[in-house]
Amino acid sequence: MNWREQPHRRLNPLTGEWVLVSPHRTQRPWQGQVERQPRPAAVHYDPKCYLCPGNERAGGKHNPPYTSTFVFDNDFSALLPDTPPFETNEAGLFAARAERGLCRVVCFSPDHSLTVARMDTGAITTVVDTWVDQFRDLAAQPFINAVQIFENRGEMMGASNPHPHCQIWSTESVPNELAKEVANLSAASECLLCRYLEEELKRGERIVCENRQFVALVPFWAVWPFETIVLPRRHFTALDEIAADERAALAEILKRLTTRYDNLFETSFPYTMGFHQRPTDGADHRYFHMHAHFYPPLLRSATVRKFMVGFEMLGGPQRDITPESAAARLRQLSEQHYLDA
Ligand SMILES: [Zn+2]
Ligand SMILES: [Zn+2]
Ligand SMILES: [Zn+2]
Repeated sequence: MNWREQPHRRLNPLTGEWVLVSPHRTQRPWQGQVERQPRPAAVHYDPKCYLCPGNERAGGKHNPPYTSTFVFDNDFSALLPDTPPFETNEAGLFAARAERGLCRVVCFSPDHSLTVARMDTGAITTVVDTWVDQFRDLAAQPFINAVQIFENRGEMMGASNPHPHCQIWSTESVPNELAKEVANLSAASECLLCRYLEEELKRGERIVCENRQFVALVPFWAVWPFETIVLPRRHFTALDEIAADERAALAEILKRLTTRYDNLFETSFPYTMGFHQRPTDGADHRYFHMHAHFYPPLLRSATVRKFMVGFEMLGGPQRDITPESAAARLRQLSEQHYLDA
């Protein structure tokens, strides 16, 4: 009996949470149908886009005529740097405290039509350089203890604007998801992710693509159908420790992975991606291993997504397609973008 073919739970050692895997529900052969999406005409500049160069943003500010990346403080910032401190805990049940932070937007390119998959590696390396500079700058602010870089890509993920950009929310507290990982990684006496990567490379079945510095793979405990994690081979804790050759290598692996994603259903593949990095609270985080998560919602086609409802909202996450078969499908795909084929 192969345990992989029967219902089972898998543990995510980063969060301590379990995912239910039901492979017997997908033993029917893959249908493989792809709904061809109409190819939208490339709009390089949109006069109504608040992120395009020279355009007016909310509140009357104008973007400069930028030609590379462009960073600004979010006009509708979820957090403010000057919120006065308070803390309350009425009856031990109504706990609240002030939270300070800084929220920024990073435009990846002046070209409204691009995505990471459609940018060249040099331009993505400039985005990596911008992330490094931003991490350094925000980490140096005394009231900032965590820096969350994330990209919401596609309307399905609630991205309000297709212009290629990400956000950086930096916070006084370490947010929930990062805090869970920090706790579990710190509890070990070695780096759990260094050992995990070594074991995954030995097994090979969940690897999607790799270069000399980075590996993209579907984690054993993945929740989303085509979820991946991007791990540097070398141990480092945050972007301020990235080596010169790792910048271009990170750009390259991001381009290759997102191209595979676009090719999967021949669509501009939606996702939330982001980096988990050591908190900038000055504590000892030597066993934190920087990585990026990609959480894409699509399940079967450009329009059929996975929903986290029912048992998943009340019990816990569940998946049918196994991480191994998701990795095999991503691995089979070309790294030439379907729009260029
Ligand atoms: Zn734009
Ligand atoms: Zn490590
Ligand atoms: Zn993580």
